[in-house]
Amino acid sequence: MSQHDLTLIVGKNAPRDEINRVRHLIDGAWTDGNGEVFERHSPAHGTPVSLISKGNANDASDAIAAARCAFERGVWSDLSGKERATLLLKVADLIDENRPRIARLEVLESGKPISQALGEIEGAADIWRYAASLARTLHGDSHNSLGRDMLGIVLKEPIGVVSIITPWNFPFLIASQKIPFALAAGCTCVVKPSELTPSTTAILGELLIEAGLPAGVVNIVNGFGDPVGSVLTTDPRVDMVSFTGSTAVGKTIEKAAGDTLKKVSSELGGKNPQVLFADADLDSAIDAIVFGIYFNAGECCNSGSRIIVHEDILDEVISRVVSLSQKVPFGDPLDPETKVGAIIHDGHQQKINGYVREAVAAGAKIEIGGAPIQIDGLPGAFYGPTVVSGLTPDMPIASEEVFGPVLSVLTFRTMDEVISLVNDASYGLSAGVWSENIHTCLEFARRAQAGTVWTNTWMDGFPELPFGGVKESGQGRELGRYGLEEFLEVKTVQMRIGRTRANWI
Ligand code: NAD
Repeated sequence: MSQHDLTLIVGKNAPRDEINRVRHLIDGAWTDGNGEVFERHSPAHGTPVSLISKGNANDASDAIAAARCAFERGVWSDLSGKERATLLLKVADLIDENRPRIARLEVLESGKPISQALGEIEGAADIWRYAASLARTLHGDSHNSLGRDMLGIVLKEPIGVVSIITPWNFPFLIASQKIPFALAAGCTCVVKPSELTPSTTAILGELLIEAGLPAGVVNIVNGFGDPVGSVLTTDPRVDMVSFTGSTAVGKTIEKAAGDTLKKVSSELGGKNPQVLFADADLDSAIDAIVFGIYFNAGECCNSGSRIIVHEDILDEVISRVVSLSQKVPFGDPLDPETKVGAIIHDGHQQKINGYVREAVAAGAKIEIGGAPIQIDGLPGAFYGPTVVSGLTPDMPIASEEVFGPVLSVLTFRTMDEVISLVNDASYGLSAGVWSENIHTCLEFARRAQAGTVWTNTWMDGFPELPFGGVKESGQGRELGRYGLEEFLEVKTVQMRIGRTRANWI
């Protein structure tokens, strides 16, 4: 059965596309599984985008069996690093070739703007290339100083079968922060994309087959947390779970995986502060604040969703942020000029609005926005650029992950005060500091509890640099060499040379 089985969309306001049929990929074959399906509509346009096979426990189990069998047979793990790298590079080229198709489906399912989606797919290809370099340079250690009759070798081996569970906000990019590293290590995988955005992961499956990946090495099962995600995190044939998503689901997964003591690596939520000292370069900082909160409509783990501003510059910062917010092009995500698209679904829009209404009721001030907006008669959910001040740190809008284009403004006077505001949070994903004084930046970077600290910049990222959180933002790291290490097990080999060991008896 083919993955390409398309029907023309019918409906008012429909982008002139075809419904994308998304099937499971199990043991190298596309399958309808148990035959159940569900639909995904464009959150911006309201039109149907994809018809998706809805996996059940048997489908998940079949996929795990295929991954286990492929791993045990060594069809991938026995290949040389050079052979694995060659395939990863081929996939990167195929991603580049298919970039417009992948980006368009990403837009239609997630609501993100097309210019951003194109950039993300280009960035994803780059990550595949970086992972290829790791596949070739992967090595362990040797210990040649244990005495003349002893050699110690530390081998790095693939951990085995990995369940990969991804969210809806960066579907292709996050899959590309996991799968190529697992493959570089020699693992086999079962992937479950978000039920809201599965299409581009299926395209990745097509590209892996086209590149020549052996059957069963990467399997994809579509569907929901219950039952597919649950099976992927509890089945004893799975060795590791690599999860990106909410902290609440991350905790459920940790518990579920604990029964079989699987390794769990998790990339979870954040409430990331940008701190502005009085000597900050405001021209750069204001732009980074606006980018930090409205990028991906604020539906971003790394969203700079709270700014903590030195009291001396508060009025100027608020007025400049409000003024720049008015210039951000919110609109139809298929318009190349749009920088902020639709909210993922109506229920999430209501959740965002709930945080704002609750803050207003508690005495907060709306500096701009604070309500859903209409875009060109599109039926989808859009939320206006919003800045909220007059907050106390304990308010939910200031301490929880709103996951929308809503900026919380807090103030401080001293370094000690701002460090306690930054660190007095359950999350610890990222933090930023703006100051022209290197000593201020360095002290902040050392004292902030976060997996990433940006100084005089925000949300830069490179395949070479590890990414992940502390505290309730997750465990483990993606990207960089650490991103590969997550998928490796360590084995110690101790070799006696010659018959020099004195007998015990
Ligand atoms: P989510 O936790 O609701 O879902 C994530 C994935 O988990 C989906 O595929 C979902 O089907 C699956 N799932 C749900 N319940 C499950 C269960 N019981 N067992 C196994 N799998 C289950 O998250 P979301 O709404 O898709 O994504 C938004 C969240 O992801 C935000 O909290 C955001 O901060 C976080 N996120 C974190 C990072 C990071 O790198 N730290 C990156 C992107 C998103």
